[in-house]
Amino acid sequence: MSQHTSLKFPALRQQVIDTCLAMNIEGINQGTSGNVSVRTDEGFLITASGIPYKKMVPEHVVEMDLAGGYRGEFLPSTEWRMHLDIYSARPEAGAVVHVHSPFAMTLACQRREVPAFHYMIGVTGGTHLRVADYAEFGTKELSVFMLKALQERTACLLANHGQICFGSDLESALWLAGEIESLCHAYWAATLTGQPVILSEGEMASVLKRFKTYGKQPGDLKGIDVSALAVFAPVKRDA
Ligand SMILES: [Zn+2]
Repeated sequence: MSQHTSLKFPALRQQVIDTCLAMNIEGINQGTSGNVSVRTDEGFLITASGIPYKKMVPEHVVEMDLAGGYRGEFLPSTEWRMHLDIYSARPEAGAVVHVHSPFAMTLACQRREVPAFHYMIGVTGGTHLRVADYAEFGTKELSVFMLKALQERTACLLANHGQICFGSDLESALWLAGEIESLCHAYWAATLTGQPVILSEGEMASVLKRFKTYGKQPGDLKGIDVSALAVFAPVKRDA
């Protein structure tokens, strides 16, 4: 096909497809209900509407600008609005993953936020995982509620719907979506079998401080005073 040669961002398009395939293999998504996007210097790339991931080729990944315009023959995912609004409102967002993962859906349908029953809740940037108020899928209203629930957070549940999260790149966004699902699963099990003990504000304040360096290597930590977090800094020996 002639447009094949003029296709922009070929590698990034393939990464979007690979992320979709990975989330179905991980069991955090069913069919094509979820959607994935990644920021570009001109806007973002997002999965097309209703195309099975196994049949998806780079042409099916739709290029959008931040004013809601799209290019090519395929319509973007019906949830494009949430993705666009995250890129507009949150400059640190490099990729967005939205899935209907089973345990996130379970809690989202109960409109039950997840407190700090486990310290990993802090990986979303705060002491609890919020639930965005209900609005119909694909609407601007849903996007407004989502942004409110995402204040100072990188993830939230969407009432009677699922979860959405973002990261600096596709890999980190996919990881976070899996982590949210795992936490929702554990919270569901913990409340089913008793009453989980919720970590205090003080305990979580310490966790949140430490998460500023979580998963980072020395090169990523410029400007962060690691000595202030010495509680978990290992001692580097001479080679
Ligand atoms: Zn959805």
